[in-house]
Amino acid sequence: MLDQKLISGLGNIYSDESCFYAGIKPQRPAGTLKKPEIKKLFTAILKVLTKSLKYRGTSSETYVDAYGREGGFVPHLMVYGRLGEDCRKCGSKLIKLKIGGRTSIHCPHCQK
Ligand SMILES: [Zn+2]
Repeated sequence: MLDQKLISGLGNIYSDESCFYAGIKPQRPAGTLKKPEIKKLFTAILKVLTKSLKYRGTSSETYVDAYGREGGFVPHLMVYGRLGEDCRKCGSKLIKLKIGGRTSIHCPHCQK
């Protein structure tokens, strides 16, 4: 997901969130994803983007800073920026992983 060749411009925030909704661990190389998983991931990306647009309305506030603190989308984040907090779905502690120099947060229980 963090491979910008795959989906250019998709920031950390969106890749973490999309992976969560898809139930896929963010460190999975794109090549190991099975067809149904790719479908899930695609649906998840659309869901996250739609959600983020919805919470920001139609203002010009379409940019999220490095900490994801801009816009009304932040309180609705499932994993991004929530390291050590409880998963909103299962209650497990969220953990972090370094992938390609970036930090990614995910739920070890919900994401395979
Ligand atoms: Zn979970």
